[in-house]
Amino acid sequence: MNKLEALGVGRIDKGAKCSVSGCGREAVRSLSAEKVKTAGLKVGNEKRAYLCKEHYKEFKKKTKKDKQIEKWRYSA
Ligand SMILES: [Zn+2]
Repeated sequence: MNKLEALGVGRIDKGAKCSVSGCGREAVRSLSAEKVKTAGLKVGNEKRAYLCKEHYKEFKKKTKKDKQIEKWRYSA
C-alpha cells in the first residue's frame, strides 16, 4: 500500500465532478467523505467524496495544519 492509498485517496472515474457544495469542477481525487468533512470542506452524505484540483489542495493544506496542531498539543 502506498502513502496515498493509506490516506484513502483513490483513483476516480473520468468525468466525475467535485463533491464540494457549489463547486462542480472536474474531480481529480476521490477520498473518504469523512476525512474531507474533517478538513472542513462541505460535501454530501456519500461515502466517497470527489475533489477537484483546487479543493484537493485545500484539503491537503487543512489536514497538514491539523497534524501540526496535534504535534504542538502532544509536545506541550
Ligand atoms: Zn471543487
